[in-house]
Amino acid sequence: MSTILIIEDESRIAGFIAKGLKAAGFTSHTTSSGIDGAALAIHGDFDLIVLDVGLPDIDGFEVLERIRGQGVAVPVIMLTARSSVEDRVAGLEGGADDYMPKPFSFEELLARIRLRLRSDAVPTATAQSATQLSHGGLVLDYRSRRAQVDGVWVDLSAREFALAETFLRNAGQVLSREQLLSSVWGFDHDPGSNVVDVYVRYLRGKLGRERFETVRGMGYRLI
Ligand code: CA
Repeated sequence: MSTILIIEDESRIAGFIAKGLKAAGFTSHTTSSGIDGAALAIHGDFDLIVLDVGLPDIDGFEVLERIRGQGVAVPVIMLTARSSVEDRVAGLEGGADDYMPKPFSFEELLARIRLRLRSDAVPTATAQSATQLSHGGLVLDYRSRRAQVDGVWVDLSAREFALAETFLRNAGQVLSREQLLSSVWGFDHDPGSNVVDVYVRYLRGKLGRERFETVRGMGYRLI
């Protein structure tokens, strides 16, 4: 299992990332301090670091400099302001592997995290199984971003794929609309939106109506 270090002082965003990572099967550790974050990155055993630029003590660039200065090559994804091209350039030049402009959906961040973890991974049988997720005759393939239903390939949109993935990772559990919204649409979603119901309908149409059970007043469950 991969362990991810989150260095972010905004608790809402840090919590949103940690929650999403947990649902996706990762373990994470969060710190709001750049100084602590750099020390953890250097002395801890992390597979990837999500690093915010704006931190209360030292900024993300300084953290990156300390980490890389100690020869730590762990992949770093920086969280930058949407408008700041300078931040992105500085981050990549400073040794970041990727950047994620704020605001972002968890799905986007997860895709980048997976990509970074995979490019580090050895292509063995483990990597093979890490590219697919399956449950009850339903298979999701990360490379082709498609689903296989009882042996037949089905195309999915990015959102449909992310939603299907959330269901597969939590098969048999009831997932509330709120959980599905924050995991697939990110922290910028409108809580009153019916987008989850719409997309569950799409998935039912593509992957089989009977797989997605409506649990009245609570949410949905993959059977
Ligand atoms: Ca911040």
